[in-house]
Amino acid sequence: MPPSTQSADPHRSDVPDPSAASAGGDSNSRRTAPEHTGPDRPGADRPGSTRAASSGAASDGAALEGAALEGAASKRTEPGRPGSQRPSSQRGDPAPVDPGALDPDRLEEVRVQASAAIATAGDLDELAALRTLHLDGRGAPLALARRALGALPQSERVEAGRRHNTATAAVRAAYEARLAELTAERDARVLVEERVDVTLPGTRRPRGARHPLSTLSDHLVDVFVAMGYEVAEGPEVEHDWFNFEALNLGPDHPARSSHDTLYVDPVGSGLLLRTHTSPVQIRTLLSRPLPVYVVCPGRTYRNDAIDATHSPVFGQLEGLAVDEGITMADLRGTLEAFAQALFGSGLATRLRPSYFPFTEPSAELDVACFACRGEPARQPCRVCSDEGWIEVGGCGMVDSNVLVACGVDPARYSGFAFGMGLERAAMIRHDVHEIRDFVDGDVRFGLSFGTGN
Ligand SMILES: [Zn+2]
Repeated sequence: MPPSTQSADPHRSDVPDPSAASAGGDSNSRRTAPEHTGPDRPGADRPGSTRAASSGAASDGAALEGAALEGAASKRTEPGRPGSQRPSSQRGDPAPVDPGALDPDRLEEVRVQASAAIATAGDLDELAALRTLHLDGRGAPLALARRALGALPQSERVEAGRRHNTATAAVRAAYEARLAELTAERDARVLVEERVDVTLPGTRRPRGARHPLSTLSDHLVDVFVAMGYEVAEGPEVEHDWFNFEALNLGPDHPARSSHDTLYVDPVGSGLLLRTHTSPVQIRTLLSRPLPVYVVCPGRTYRNDAIDATHSPVFGQLEGLAVDEGITMADLRGTLEAFAQALFGSGLATRLRPSYFPFTEPSAELDVACFACRGEPARQPCRVCSDEGWIEVGGCGMVDSNVLVACGVDPARYSGFAFGMGLERAAMIRHDVHEIRDFVDGDVRFGLSFGTGN
């Protein structure tokens, strides 16, 4: 903005009509200025455009400046104009001294008005504003009156000063009184508004619940750890060799079909989402010294659509024992202890012949139904559908091909393996009918199992 208009602006609203006409001329000059300062004008550049505007419109700008100064000056030279004191003091200009402000009547009037206004202040903010307006502010009548003291002759000054002090003290007393009232009101209101009932119960954050599958998995792992087993874990994205090849599932085995297995891009990488926890057994045999006794809990994946009893993601728990002289009797005894830990003590177990590529011979482990115990008097039984037996999982003696793939001498070592689905076990154990309840994430489902074991 040109310097000339900067100095004129603060007063422009106050300038009388003739000056306003000049201001119009100035805006004209500013409109025309860019024509003079266009880029094709020699010697003109952007930063200099304001300078060019003021110099290019030298006559108009000078006229405005003169008019503005004149207007401002005329205001300052009008102390006698009615009402001129208040506006000038509001702008912070030195107010003219008015000895009449110390007249007894004037002072009394000021005291009455100020005290009345202060006494009716509605709140502390309004009271503070009234204090400035009537008592402390530069334009407050009492402040102006005090300044007038110096203009009085010495003979009148003492008496006038006393009057002024009395009036000021009265207004200040009114202020203090109202301040005390408003402060008390505010404090009382805050006490009510911010009252805290310490006898009310606090806000409690609801406790979460362990997932029932985690609880069951930990419980079963504890059973095996108590028998001397170690826990082994492996990756959920697994290589084909660990998941199929080493477990005696040849290239043409139907389980390798993409109808059953979820493969990982890129195609041909040999990576897949493990379809069982058995690859952990392979990794264990390859990495740990014999003998090994491990239990492997974990998440597994199959290309299944979700329904009441199937899920593409499910938990498994597998066990593997490889040592010298291991027989099926060891398997039988181990699984009996395991089944009773799962469903209760005193339940009979049985092995039914079955087939798995990685065990030979293979069997299904059944445990007597914990609900009806196979007794017709307790049937019909929803748990076992009157079968009297519950299928828990698969097991068998580790196939010699698996041992060889892992570099174990089958002539010296033998072993057994078993596996079970955690969801299925939990559904039977807790009478859950929807496998989806395990993955829906509704904390109320977990809470119904308790937060501990
Ligand atoms: Zn039953």
